Amino acid sequence: MTDTPADDLKPSFRSDVTVELVKHTASDADVLFAARVSTVGEQSLDELGKDPERSKGLINYLMRDRHGSPFEHNSMTFFISAPIFVFREFMRHRVGWSYNEESGRYRELQPVFYVPGADRRLVQEGRPGKYVFVEGTREQQELVTRTMEDSYRQAYEAYQEMLAAGVAREVARAVLPVGLFSSMYATCNARSLMHFLGLRTQHELAKVPSFPQREIEMVGEKMEAEWARLMPLTYAAFNTNGRVAP
Ligand SMILES: Cc1cc2nc3c(=O)[nH]c(=O)nc-3n(C[C@H](O)[C@H](O)[C@H](O)COP(=O)(O)OP(=O)(O)OC[C@H]3O[C@@H](n4cnc5c(N)ncnc54)[C@H](O)[C@@H]3O)c2cc1C
Repeated sequence: MTDTPADDLKPSFRSDVTVELVKHTASDADVLFAARVSTVGEQSLDELGKDPERSKGLINYLMRDRHGSPFEHNSMTFFISAPIFVFREFMRHRVGWSYNEESGRYRELQPVFYVPGADRRLVQEGRPGKYVFVEGTREQQELVTRTMEDSYRQAYEAYQEMLAAGVAREVARAVLPVGLFSSMYATCNARSLMHFLGLRTQHELAKVPSFPQREIEMVGEKMEAEWARLMPLTYAAFNTNGRVAP
């Protein structure tokens, strides 16, 4: 017989993701400071606020001609909570990123699971590389919600049953699905974030279109909004130059 899970261990279902900017040293001035050492040497910090139009022009030039390294002298740390299948995609981004994720060995995983919201297009049409997603029918939406929730409940009950019987967390977690939410800190700089956004968002200004899964795009869009606020000139230059990382 299994223990009845406590109320706070009852599965809950989410259709959104969490992205919080928890720490940053990131501004357009960091780009100018790094770039101007080429021509002004160690005095370059004094030059920063002097000529805004020139600063904007310099950032645009660096972006256009893909002089990338000045965009690395800054740092943003995000707290992200999203389904494990999003993290699998996210952590493929190796360069200019640092990650720390919650452990399924050292803590009991909480029963929070992803169920697509009503606005998530459910049906894929076309062939790989050339497909589009369209709305599902009401029946398909109901099916997705019902079968996902049932399946998540069953999986979490199995997890709880094993923990209650003394099985180690690292063993019992094998039954949990990739729709389970995880959380991590991810630290990047503007250059690595631009590379990520170029691949993981769709945008009308993108010179090279990408076709990311919607759920990682939801994370990307929230990160993009935070970054745009911190580095407006860099962000504008990224868009003007086709959203290709320098
Ligand atoms: C729409 C989409 C679909 C995808 N589908 C799949 C899939 O089906 N299967 C799959 O396995 N992956 C898939 N991926 C992941 C993809 O192949 C990349 O691993 C991921 O996008 C990270 O990109 P990246 O390697 O450029 O980034 P990073 O790892 O951050 O690297 C940044 C850049 O550094 C350079 N670099 C990094 N490492 C090396 C290296 N070892 N050698 C040479 N240069 C290097 C490259 O210029 C690279 O672009 C997909 C990605 C997208 C966006």
